Amino acid sequence: MGNQQLKGLIIKSTGSWYEVLNEESREVFRGRLRGKFKVKGLKVTNPIAVGDYVLYEQEEVEEETVVIKDILPRENYILRRSTHKKWHGHIIAANVDQAIMVATLGFPRTSLGFIDRFLVSAESFRIPAVILFNKTDLLTEEGIAFQEELMELYESLGYRCLSISALTEENLQAVEQLLDGKKSLIAGHSGVGKSTLINALLPHVEQRTAEVSTYANKGKHTTTFAEMFAVDDHGTFLIDTPGIKELGIMNVEENELGHYFPEIREAMEYCKFHNCTHTHEPNCEVRNRLETEEIAESRYISYLSILEDDDNRR
Ligand code: GDP
Ligand code: ZN
Repeated sequence: MGNQQLKGLIIKSTGSWYEVLNEESREVFRGRLRGKFKVKGLKVTNPIAVGDYVLYEQEEVEEETVVIKDILPRENYILRRSTHKKWHGHIIAANVDQAIMVATLGFPRTSLGFIDRFLVSAESFRIPAVILFNKTDLLTEEGIAFQEELMELYESLGYRCLSISALTEENLQAVEQLLDGKKSLIAGHSGVGKSTLINALLPHVEQRTAEVSTYANKGKHTTTFAEMFAVDDHGTFLIDTPGIKELGIMNVEENELGHYFPEIREAMEYCKFHNCTHTHEPNCEVRNRLETEEIAESRYISYLSILEDDDNRR
């Protein structure tokens, strides 16, 4: 066995130990860190997160436990920023291929502001975002028409949308196609049907572990760890984030926020002032397009609401 280093994928993290999957042999090991791991430019409570690729060595004595020796470069990561310091935080997941928001237009009603915040977060982490409109079996005709309008809006902005019912399993094949071969993070308000959806997609997982690891961090702040489930053995994973409704918007500067709205990003290069906040400035192309309804009012309202929210870093 010696000191051969193998590549593994972190599928679970508790903060003190990790589950490491060898994607070739499909073996899962219990891993621990040896030495100091630092994340460049960041002060994080967890140096390694779900989705990280690592190099590990098998221990001679105990074959089920491995030592994590190194972490491989990340494609991206989702950081939940500390509320008081910009570069302090908790890494929710790394190497995420897409962020999926499960939304419902009734029972409970997901607000457009909430959807837009999620999309802005995903944009800020450079992760493609998808919206699954769930519980469509409960919608009235009016509700269906409204949902179609929304889907058209978000699709036009480049966000994939699907209309589904986790309960009746309507359109779940399209969801499976969407997930295939990717690491997808699932988020949404509690009650929108995330567990029902995950269970429907993972029939072989007897019971989704509701186990949530928390630990105290600077007093009252508690941290939740995400968990990753293998949907198949060719790279399809679901990242469940219990207790995490939002991805957490990074500390977005006033004149940066527009970049995270694709339609504002496109319009703003024609604004008179390069540092236009699109609120009161003359010759603002964003407000021109709002006037002509090329930019949707609901999106502009979300933009203003995030802009005005000093606490937009949650
Ligand atoms: P979570 O908090 O997001 O994990 O939501 P759950 O999966 O626990 O679902 C909350 C409730 O909504 C449960 O009673 C589910 O049976 C129900 N539910 C989930 N998906 C659907 C759906 O597509 N249609 C209907 N009618 N009910 C659903
Ligand atoms: Zn402007």
